[in-house]
Amino acid sequence: MEKRLRLAPSPTGLLHIGTARTALFNWLYAKKNNGKFLIRIEDTDILRSKSEYETNILNGLNWLGINWDEEPIKQSNRISIHKNHIKRLLEIGAAYRCFTSESEINELREKQKKSGLPPKHDNRHRNLTSKEIQEFISQGKSSVIRFKVDEETEIRWNDQIRGEIKWQGKDLGGDLVLSRRTLGNEIGDPLYNLAVVVDDNFMNITHVVRGEDHISNTAKQILIYKALDYKLPIFSHTPLILNSEGKKLSKRDCVTSIDEFKEMGYLPEALTNYMAFLGWSTKVPESEILSLKEISKVFDLSDVNKAGAKFNWEKLNWINSQYIKKMELPKLKKLIKKFWHDMGWESPSKEWELKLTNLIKDSMILLKDAIDLSKPFFSLSEIQKEGNDFLKDNREAKESLKYILFYLKQDNISKVNNDKAREIISKISINHSIKKGIVMKSLRIAFFGCLSGPDLIKSWELFSESKRDLDLIKRCLI
Ligand code: GLU
Repeated sequence: MEKRLRLAPSPTGLLHIGTARTALFNWLYAKKNNGKFLIRIEDTDILRSKSEYETNILNGLNWLGINWDEEPIKQSNRISIHKNHIKRLLEIGAAYRCFTSESEINELREKQKKSGLPPKHDNRHRNLTSKEIQEFISQGKSSVIRFKVDEETEIRWNDQIRGEIKWQGKDLGGDLVLSRRTLGNEIGDPLYNLAVVVDDNFMNITHVVRGEDHISNTAKQILIYKALDYKLPIFSHTPLILNSEGKKLSKRDCVTSIDEFKEMGYLPEALTNYMAFLGWSTKVPESEILSLKEISKVFDLSDVNKAGAKFNWEKLNWINSQYIKKMELPKLKKLIKKFWHDMGWESPSKEWELKLTNLIKDSMILLKDAIDLSKPFFSLSEIQKEGNDFLKDNREAKESLKYILFYLKQDNISKVNNDKAREIISKISINHSIKKGIVMKSLRIAFFGCLSGPDLIKSWELFSESKRDLDLIKRCLI
């Protein structure tokens, strides 16, 4: 039978790393088994759902390369179908109308709190007669529909990640609310646990993979599946993503939405590679740098850990830098060029852009590192204290820069390629007995204003091509 999995995001916020990781595990399992990965937008919370969040979630998944196989389903289009199912549950006696008011519920909770008990409905209207129901309605009392939860029942399922899970009916908080409050004989808008069962069954979902925070919902949903006589899917509950303190990763941890990762300069390939290892590990690890296609060949839900997965920035950064290093130059240049463009920086040629990309790529961790790394090649870097001290303390420093200007002029060199650069430095060293190290450090200060920076010889070629090398050297001699 075809395996069908789904992500069921609520469009009440930006695509979060946790939702993206759940999507990825679903996607990987579907791909591994030649199955389908689907999306259902759970947008029935009218007050909190926004279409811009829906767009953000779908765009984010797309950017990550987590594609879906069928047109996404919108839960809000299916409300009347959900209501029909609630009617059916009423008809077969599995659900009933409950008139407990908000204040009565609060009163009950307060009492339970005082006695140290967890909140639980007392199912007071489970056995109302139709006459009593009509009386409440005619008194103008609002009602919800509740699903009968058998206190004696034990709910069990074999979780693909956690093994056997048992849940006691008495621990589910009393009879389950299926619909929002309404007046009269109406059925109010359906709530999550009912809608999710009806829709997963409608979409022929065979495997439900979602966060561990849904375990108690699964217990409730299994009861609804049984009442509606539906075939149960196989459930898997993924571990939470934790911050460095071992607490659930939240907005307080600064970066959590996929947009923010994108803006910071993480590559989608690196992020998905990292996310796959967030809670999952392969028994045959050849490398930690694996494409989604490669991971999907070895992925299995049974290899997902039960324990929470700590978010490790260093590892993510390392993976990102590996992807930058191995990316094809023209592709990387295109990504970096966006930053240059935003900074208003113009390059002398396409060829030069590729050379600069090649020069800085090994020092990049994030895409936006390209800004600082390429800045000296577009704008003047001030000479820092260590640079000024070096020029002052070493008599031969300024001398070597003068010799550079001299040889460039004498030999009529307008373009310093790598060979020419090496030749000039050697000449100065041999003819004037100045150590190569001094010549190179002096030139480095002229170009970068300090003693660190990328490969000097290659840099010189770039400064020469953009016709800035002479001015940069001259400024040190004033
Ligand atoms: N809309 C729910 C959520 O975003 C879906 C949970 C589920 O996968 O059933 O948490």
